[in-house]
Amino acid sequence: AAPFYPPPWVPKLPFDPPDSITIADFILDENYGRHPLGYSRPMFTCGMTGKEYSALEVKERVDYLARGLAKELGWRPNEGTEWDKVIGVYSLNTLDTVPLAWATHRLGGIQTPANAAYSATELEYQLKNSSATCLFTCLPLLETAKTAARKCGIPDNRIYILEVPKELTGGKGTPAGMKTVDDFIREGAKLDRLDPLNLAQGEGAKRTAFLCYSSGTSGLPKGVMISHRNVIANSMQVRAFDAPTRQKLQQPGTQSEYTENVLGLLPMSHIYSLIVICHVSAYRGDGVIVLPKFEFAQMLGSIQRFKINALYLVPPIIILLAKDKATREKFDLSSVWCIFTGAAPLGKETADDLQKIYPSWKIRQGYGLTETCTVVCSTSPDDIWFGSSGSILPGIECKIVTLEGNEITGYDQPGELLVKSPSVVLGYLNNEKANRETFQDGYMRTGDEAVIRKSPSGHEHIFIVDRIKELIKVKGHQVAPAELEAHLLTHPAVNDCAVIQIPDDKSGEIPKAFVVKSPSVSAEESDRIVARSIQKHVEQHKAKYKWITGGVEFIDVIPKSPSGKILRRMLRDKEKGKRRQT
Ligand code: AMP
Repeated sequence: AAPFYPPPWVPKLPFDPPDSITIADFILDENYGRHPLGYSRPMFTCGMTGKEYSALEVKERVDYLARGLAKELGWRPNEGTEWDKVIGVYSLNTLDTVPLAWATHRLGGIQTPANAAYSATELEYQLKNSSATCLFTCLPLLETAKTAARKCGIPDNRIYILEVPKELTGGKGTPAGMKTVDDFIREGAKLDRLDPLNLAQGEGAKRTAFLCYSSGTSGLPKGVMISHRNVIANSMQVRAFDAPTRQKLQQPGTQSEYTENVLGLLPMSHIYSLIVICHVSAYRGDGVIVLPKFEFAQMLGSIQRFKINALYLVPPIIILLAKDKATREKFDLSSVWCIFTGAAPLGKETADDLQKIYPSWKIRQGYGLTETCTVVCSTSPDDIWFGSSGSILPGIECKIVTLEGNEITGYDQPGELLVKSPSVVLGYLNNEKANRETFQDGYMRTGDEAVIRKSPSGHEHIFIVDRIKELIKVKGHQVAPAELEAHLLTHPAVNDCAVIQIPDDKSGEIPKAFVVKSPSVSAEESDRIVARSIQKHVEQHKAKYKWITGGVEFIDVIPKSPSGKILRRMLRDKEKGKRRQT
């Protein structure tokens, strides 16, 4: 019966995550159950160059970096609020991305990570919305970063560099006069210790640490306020959920916990990579092999070179792995035992295909959201059921409700999934309306349609069967239809429009636009040319994954409710009908 709880084999936590410390205190201090600092694998290793930092080195770098930043920016740990100290990060993955966040937190500030695929306009929106006053970027993105920063009043001397391997910069070094993380660390090592950051009782649960962007159930991307305790809670939850598995993997006769090397390829601007790959791994003593961006052969090469054991992936990469036999077979992937997928649904067929190729691999799926920071449920290696998103993590309660809000208590009946967890975020920044709609009676409304099914082994599993909210997921990235619609309306040929998702073999979903042509478009202009011009309008201003690759279809009128809300469901059903016919 609902609400649903974790299955019996998930260890019960005395669930009260620390609420008066920062994330870094939790992760870099053994008092909070971290794997012993001095004995863990290197915390972050570059998958291209092999450069690595141990946990102890990271701890020291965070300290010095905080000192260096304090001097540069004039920030003091206990002065002002966190909203006076927002640092934007717009970068490919680097060894310093997470340590930079921890140094920012040390000063009482916030990190707001932006997608490295963003255009200058998209970055500008986030920097303005978050009130960031300085920006860290990497050389390949420097020009875009500068364009956006200037539009937000961030001067060039408040743009700093996160280093990526030279191969990605065409051999170029940091331009003279620009400071890198290493510069700050060198300077910081010579400076006095900072005052301790005083967090009042319970403040870790109230203070924002990360401001990640998500469009939630509708509208434009919004700043999601993630507290220190949210991150701490989910790190504890994931670790506890996996504890029985890790006990089994532990070498007989040894005292030390099992740890492993994991793939740090997914963008650290997204909650999945930021929390699950980086924070959870750092906490339990795993080594993250950081890759700045996706390149298939390079990914496989680093799995071989660093003997990576667990791969955190998204469905499109798994599809490629299953399909590209020629590339795959050039590499020795025998160190891998487990794949973890999330951010978008993994089709059962794809999982079946991959399992045939690698029969010994455990192919796990997890489900989560930026707003639940992060994992809500996951399959355990001992209870895998393809298509399922698994069992609820400890300290989480879920229920499923009908459209009218009535609780569904039986199996196999679809409804909206609601989540209660200490990892559920503080809310959206400056958006009371969205907060009221999304966070109700202690539960977060996910906007996802789910059913509970009982597995052959008798455990309750969550299956995500559809999405009720407006969101489109392209390769795991969020695309907000409202954002694309607002942009399309600035094209002279568009009188009205609606954007929906259509299924795609490679990306999972892609955006498709329905457009009502404006009267100014002459009858002679061919639909093909107008459609192409509309697509180009998006290509010039938006990140590649937002492009309207699902095509533009012209219609007479956009179906809307009496209150003017676009009836997307009608368009999606129309699309499904067409697909069935072909
Ligand atoms: P984000 O905040 O970008 O992580 O997006 C969260 C959304 O991604 C969820 O609300 C789901 O719609 C989708 N999602 C994440 N994981 C899964 C999964 N395992 N299966 C289906 N959809 C998923």
